[in-house]
Amino acid sequence: MHSEQRTFIAVKPDGVRRGLVGEIISRFEKKGFKLIAIKMLDVSQEQAEAHYAEHKGKPFFPRLIEYIQSGPIVAMVWKGYDVIAGARQLMGSTNPLDAQVGTIRADLALVKEYNVVHGSDCVESAEREINIYFKPEELCDEYENMAETVIEQLDEE
Ligand code: UDP
Ligand code: MG
Repeated sequence: MHSEQRTFIAVKPDGVRRGLVGEIISRFEKKGFKLIAIKMLDVSQEQAEAHYAEHKGKPFFPRLIEYIQSGPIVAMVWKGYDVIAGARQLMGSTNPLDAQVGTIRADLALVKEYNVVHGSDCVESAEREINIYFKPEELCDEYENMAETVIEQLDEE
């Protein structure tokens, strides 16, 4: 059985400024994940602190909060089989220098402080982060996604 999940993905302000929104979305689309919500927004202080609550107190926290509010982000919810790990595989390691070539961060970013994309790290974070940025009625899951359909067939066999 394949585990179907949802994850919160954001193109961070540096990714937006650099014109990488389409490139980043394209990688998740091509993989076969299903886009179920998307919007551009300016992150509030409350959203920023809630999003990165686990990092509160770390030396990089103040700059991280400033960074995520330095311009609009493109917030998204993606759905699919093992999408949490799959998205993090596509993104690559936090530090672009540690990320594998071919990943978003290795290919498109230079330093860990400006690494162009965010993705949830587990089911609990995903649900928490989705709720920070989206209302339940903003999720559009009622359409057919081919990759999803194929895996549903596999699970039925
Ligand atoms: N970050 C940073 N310096 C560090 C570690 C992290 O600026 O030493 C930033 C970076 O933008 C990273 C975010 O804080 O993406 C969250 O860190 P985490 O360890 O959760 O990495 P991620 O889950 O984004 O790969
Ligand atoms: Mg993280």
